[in-house]
Amino acid sequence: MNDCIFCKIVSGEIPSNKVYEDDQCLAFYDLDPQAPTHFLVIPKAHIESARSINAGNCQIVGHCYAVIAQIAQDMGLESYRVVTNCGLQAGQSVFHLHFHVLAGRDMTWPPG
Ligand code: AMP
Repeated sequence: MNDCIFCKIVSGEIPSNKVYEDDQCLAFYDLDPQAPTHFLVIPKAHIESARSINAGNCQIVGHCYAVIAQIAQDMGLESYRVVTNCGLQAGQSVFHLHFHVLAGRDMTWPPG
């Protein structure tokens, strides 16, 4: 998608601090970290939000979670939180599906 910042990161038009990449997804550190470890895992294909996941594209969600588990293992993360904000009220600011992975501090529940 032309005006999507995460599509521009996928294409290399905007640089990122890359953690992991394969043919389906990309992981990179968040610009504004909310925990000592905070990276994002995104599908390379443009999917607007969790609301847009359907039977035809849901394979990528499982793939992203498998990648998250592998990265967490490689980083030695004993505990981590995966967050997907869906919609403005939930705090979504970039409308390209992404999974926040946060670790390295105590997490509160319920989240704010
Ligand atoms: P959300 O608010 O849930 O949509 O999350 C979007 C996240 O993308 C925020 O945590 C931002 O800090 C992060 N972000 C925005 N632009 C960039 C960028 N160019 N590189 C890395 N992270 C970014």
